[in-house]
Amino acid sequence: MKKYLLLFLCITLWLGVLVGLRGFAATEASVPAGSVRVRTENGILELELEEYVAALLSAAMPDNYPEEALRAQAVILRTRTCRTLESGVPHEDGCFCAGCEYCFSFTTTVTAASHNAARATAGEVLRYNGALIDARFHLSSCEYTASAYELTGEDIPYLVSVDTPDESGFSAFVNTVTIPLDQLAAAFPDRTLSFEANDLYLSYYDSGRIKNVFFGDTAVAGGALATAFALKSQRFDAAIRD
Ligand SMILES: [Zn+2]
Repeated sequence: MKKYLLLFLCITLWLGVLVGLRGFAATEASVPAGSVRVRTENGILELELEEYVAALLSAAMPDNYPEEALRAQAVILRTRTCRTLESGVPHEDGCFCAGCEYCFSFTTTVTAASHNAARATAGEVLRYNGALIDARFHLSSCEYTASAYELTGEDIPYLVSVDTPDESGFSAFVNTVTIPLDQLAAAFPDRTLSFEANDLYLSYYDSGRIKNVFFGDTAVAGGALATAFALKSQRFDAAIRD
Protein backbone atom coordinates (compact mmCIF):
# COMPACT_ATOMS: atom_id res chain seq x y z
CA MET A 1 0.00 0.00 0.00
CA LYS A 2 1.26 3.44 -0.87
CA LYS A 3 2.38 5.54 2.08
CA TYR A 4 2.23 9.25 2.66
CA LEU A 5 3.71 11.87 4.90
CA LEU A 6 0.86 13.87 6.41
CA LEU A 7 1.65 17.35 7.67
CA PHE A 8 -0.80 19.17 9.89
CA LEU A 9 0.10 22.80 9.40
CA CYS A 10 -0.66 25.70 11.59
CA ILE A 11 -0.69 28.50 9.05
CA THR A 12 1.86 31.14 9.94
CA LEU A 13 2.72 33.67 7.32
CA TRP A 14 5.50 36.19 7.39
CA LEU A 15 4.25 38.86 5.07
CA GLY A 16 6.95 41.35 5.81
CA VAL A 17 9.70 39.38 4.15
CA LEU A 18 10.81 41.45 1.24
CA VAL A 19 14.14 40.91 -0.43
CA GLY A 20 16.95 43.07 0.96
CA LEU A 21 16.99 46.67 -0.06
CA ARG A 22 18.70 47.60 -3.31
CA GLY A 23 18.85 51.36 -3.19
CA PHE A 24 18.67 53.58 -6.25
CA ALA A 25 18.71 57.33 -5.73
CA ALA A 26 15.74 59.10 -7.25
CA THR A 27 18.05 61.64 -8.85
CA GLU A 28 16.22 62.74 -11.95
CA ALA A 29 13.03 63.31 -10.09
CA SER A 30 12.58 66.31 -7.87
CA VAL A 31 10.70 64.38 -5.25
CA PRO A 32 9.94 66.54 -2.22
CA ALA A 33 10.99 65.13 1.16
CA GLY A 34 8.25 62.94 2.55
CA SER A 35 6.91 62.10 -0.90
CA VAL A 36 6.87 58.74 -2.62
CA ARG A 37 6.68 57.93 -6.33
CA VAL A 38 4.75 54.85 -7.34
CA ARG A 39 4.70 53.31 -10.80
CA THR A 40 1.22 52.00 -11.60
CA GLU A 41 -0.40 50.73 -14.76
CA ASN A 42 -1.86 54.23 -15.17
CA GLY A 43 1.50 55.95 -14.93
CA ILE A 44 3.62 57.34 -12.13
CA LEU A 45 1.87 58.76 -9.08
CA GLU A 46 3.50 61.09 -6.61
CA LEU A 47 2.03 60.69 -3.15
CA GLU A 48 2.57 62.12 0.28
CA LEU A 49 4.10 59.50 2.57
CA GLU A 50 0.89 59.20 4.58
CA GLU A 51 -1.19 58.73 1.42
CA TYR A 52 1.19 55.95 0.37
CA VAL A 53 0.96 54.29 3.81
CA ALA A 54 -2.86 54.38 3.60
CA ALA A 55 -2.73 52.77 0.14
CA LEU A 56 -0.40 49.98 1.34
CA LEU A 57 -2.68 49.42 4.31
CA SER A 58 -5.74 49.10 2.07
CA ALA A 59 -3.88 46.55 -0.05
CA ALA A 60 -2.76 44.60 3.03
CA MET A 61 -5.71 44.47 5.42
CA PRO A 62 -9.51 44.35 5.23
CA ASP A 63 -11.01 47.64 6.40
CA ASN A 64 -13.23 45.89 8.94
CA TYR A 65 -10.23 44.84 11.03
CA PRO A 66 -10.08 46.40 14.50
CA GLU A 67 -8.97 50.02 14.44
CA GLU A 68 -5.91 49.41 16.62
CA ALA A 69 -4.78 46.57 14.36
CA LEU A 70 -5.01 48.87 11.34
CA ARG A 71 -3.07 51.54 13.21
CA ALA A 72 -0.34 49.08 14.24
CA GLN A 73 -0.02 47.91 10.65
CA ALA A 74 0.18 51.52 9.46
CA VAL A 75 3.18 52.05 11.75
CA ILE A 76 4.85 48.92 10.38
CA LEU A 77 4.28 49.90 6.75
CA ARG A 78 5.49 53.46 7.39
CA THR A 79 8.62 52.19 9.16
CA ARG A 80 9.37 49.85 6.30
CA THR A 81 8.82 52.57 3.71
CA CYS A 82 10.99 55.12 5.56
CA ARG A 83 13.76 52.54 5.91
CA THR A 84 13.64 51.90 2.19
CA LEU A 85 13.65 55.62 1.40
CA GLU A 86 16.73 56.06 3.63
CA SER A 87 18.74 53.57 1.62
CA GLY A 88 17.26 54.39 -1.79
CA VAL A 89 14.14 53.37 -3.64
CA PRO A 90 14.07 49.83 -4.99
CA HIS A 91 13.77 50.51 -8.73
CA GLU A 92 16.08 52.39 -11.08
CA ASP A 93 13.35 54.80 -12.14
CA GLY A 94 13.17 56.11 -8.58
CA CYS A 95 9.75 54.54 -8.00
CA PHE A 96 8.12 51.91 -5.89
CA CYS A 97 5.99 49.60 -8.00
CA ALA A 98 2.54 48.21 -7.23
CA GLY A 99 3.96 45.02 -5.72
CA CYS A 100 7.10 42.93 -6.23
CA GLU A 101 9.75 41.22 -4.15
CA TYR A 102 10.99 44.69 -3.09
CA CYS A 103 7.72 46.61 -2.79
CA PHE A 104 4.54 46.02 -0.81
CA SER A 105 1.29 45.66 -2.73
CA PHE A 106 -0.24 49.00 -3.61
CA THR A 107 -3.80 49.94 -4.49
CA THR A 108 -5.43 53.16 -5.65
CA THR A 109 -8.66 52.09 -3.93
CA VAL A 110 -7.99 53.41 -0.45
CA THR A 111 -10.61 52.90 2.24
CA ALA A 112 -11.66 55.46 4.83
CA ALA A 113 -10.49 53.07 7.56
CA SER A 114 -6.97 53.02 6.08
CA HIS A 115 -6.90 56.83 5.74
CA ASN A 116 -7.99 57.14 9.37
CA ALA A 117 -5.35 54.69 10.62
CA ALA A 118 -2.59 56.45 8.69
CA ARG A 119 -3.75 59.85 9.91
CA ALA A 120 -4.05 58.69 13.54
CA THR A 121 -0.45 57.43 13.53
CA ALA A 122 1.05 60.02 11.16
CA GLY A 123 4.82 60.20 11.50
CA GLU A 124 5.09 57.26 13.91
CA VAL A 125 7.87 54.80 13.13
CA LEU A 126 9.64 52.01 15.03
CA ARG A 127 13.30 52.48 15.93
CA TYR A 128 15.88 50.37 17.76
CA ASN A 129 18.96 52.19 19.09
CA GLY A 130 17.89 55.12 16.99
CA ALA A 131 17.74 53.26 13.68
CA LEU A 132 14.56 52.31 11.84
CA ILE A 133 13.90 48.62 12.42
CA ASP A 134 13.44 45.87 9.86
CA ALA A 135 9.68 45.82 10.43
CA ARG A 136 8.67 42.27 9.58
CA PHE A 137 5.26 40.96 10.52
CA HIS A 138 3.04 37.89 10.52
CA LEU A 139 -0.38 37.66 8.98
CA SER A 140 -0.99 34.86 11.43
CA SER A 141 1.60 33.68 13.91
CA CYS A 142 -0.04 30.63 15.48
CA GLU A 143 0.47 31.39 19.19
CA TYR A 144 4.12 32.37 18.87
CA THR A 145 5.87 34.60 16.38
CA ALA A 146 8.94 33.24 14.64
CA SER A 147 12.25 34.79 15.60
CA ALA A 148 14.52 36.35 13.01
CA TYR A 149 16.96 33.54 13.72
CA GLU A 150 14.43 30.93 12.65
CA LEU A 151 13.86 32.78 9.44
CA THR A 152 17.30 33.94 8.43
CA GLY A 153 19.78 32.16 10.71
CA GLU A 154 20.77 35.55 12.13
CA ASP A 155 19.72 37.05 15.44
CA ILE A 156 18.01 40.43 15.31
CA PRO A 157 17.60 41.59 18.92
CA TYR A 158 14.16 43.13 18.43
CA LEU A 159 12.77 40.21 16.38
CA VAL A 160 12.46 37.50 19.01
CA SER A 161 9.70 34.96 19.43
CA VAL A 162 6.79 36.29 21.50
CA ASP A 163 3.44 34.78 22.32
CA THR A 164 0.37 36.17 20.61
CA PRO A 165 -3.35 35.98 21.39
CA ASP A 166 -5.39 33.14 19.97
CA GLU A 167 -5.79 33.50 16.20
CA SER A 168 -7.96 30.47 15.52
CA GLY A 169 -10.61 32.68 13.88
CA PHE A 170 -8.31 33.05 10.89
CA SER A 171 -9.96 31.07 8.10
CA ALA A 172 -6.87 29.17 6.93
CA PHE A 173 -5.54 28.56 10.42
CA VAL A 174 -5.01 24.81 10.14
CA ASN A 175 -4.32 22.91 6.98
CA THR A 176 -3.33 19.34 6.12
CA VAL A 177 -0.79 18.59 3.42
CA THR A 178 -0.32 15.05 2.07
CA ILE A 179 3.00 14.21 0.44
CA PRO A 180 3.49 10.82 -1.26
CA LEU A 181 6.72 9.32 0.07
CA ASP A 182 8.13 8.77 -3.42
CA GLN A 183 7.81 12.50 -4.04
CA LEU A 184 9.47 13.21 -0.72
CA ALA A 185 12.40 10.92 -1.58
CA ALA A 186 12.68 12.54 -5.00
CA ALA A 187 12.86 15.99 -3.45
CA PHE A 188 15.92 15.02 -1.42
CA PRO A 189 17.75 12.55 -3.70
CA ASP A 190 21.05 12.83 -1.84
CA ARG A 191 19.53 11.74 1.50
CA THR A 192 18.75 8.30 2.83
CA LEU A 193 15.35 8.74 4.42
CA SER A 194 13.70 6.04 6.51
CA PHE A 195 9.94 6.01 6.08
CA GLU A 196 9.13 3.75 9.02
CA ALA A 197 6.48 5.49 11.11
CA ASN A 198 8.47 4.85 14.29
CA ASP A 199 11.57 6.49 12.78
CA LEU A 200 9.84 9.84 12.28
CA TYR A 201 10.53 12.51 14.83
CA LEU A 202 10.68 16.28 14.97
CA SER A 203 12.87 18.92 16.57
CA TYR A 204 11.61 22.41 17.28
CA TYR A 205 12.63 26.01 17.57
CA ASP A 206 11.56 27.87 20.72
CA SER A 207 8.49 29.22 18.91
CA GLY A 208 7.27 25.68 18.21
CA ARG A 209 8.23 25.78 14.53
CA ILE A 210 9.98 22.76 13.09
CA LYS A 211 13.76 22.91 13.04
CA ASN A 212 14.32 19.43 11.60
CA VAL A 213 12.25 16.44 10.55
CA PHE A 214 14.19 13.24 11.18
CA PHE A 215 13.52 10.26 8.93
CA GLY A 216 15.56 7.76 10.91
CA ASP A 217 19.08 9.16 11.25
CA THR A 218 18.65 11.64 8.43
CA ALA A 219 17.41 15.15 9.10
CA VAL A 220 15.59 17.39 6.68
CA ALA A 221 15.42 21.01 7.80
CA GLY A 222 11.90 22.32 8.33
CA GLY A 223 12.71 25.25 6.07
CA ALA A 224 13.92 22.94 3.29
CA LEU A 225 10.75 20.88 3.52
CA ALA A 226 8.65 24.04 3.47
CA THR A 227 10.48 25.28 0.38
CA ALA A 228 10.35 21.96 -1.47
CA PHE A 229 6.59 21.57 -1.00
CA ALA A 230 5.55 25.23 -0.85
CA LEU A 231 4.29 24.85 2.71
CA LYS A 232 2.70 27.96 4.16
CA SER A 233 4.05 27.25 7.57
CA GLN A 234 6.98 25.72 9.39
CA ARG A 235 4.78 25.01 12.37
CA PHE A 236 3.31 21.56 11.90
CA ASP A 237 2.89 18.08 13.22
CA ALA A 238 3.74 15.11 11.01
CA ALA A 239 2.78 11.47 10.62
CA ILE A 240 3.43 8.67 8.15
CA ARG A 241 0.22 6.94 7.09
CA ASP A 242 -0.98 4.42 4.56
ZN1 LIG B 1 8.78 46.90 -6.89
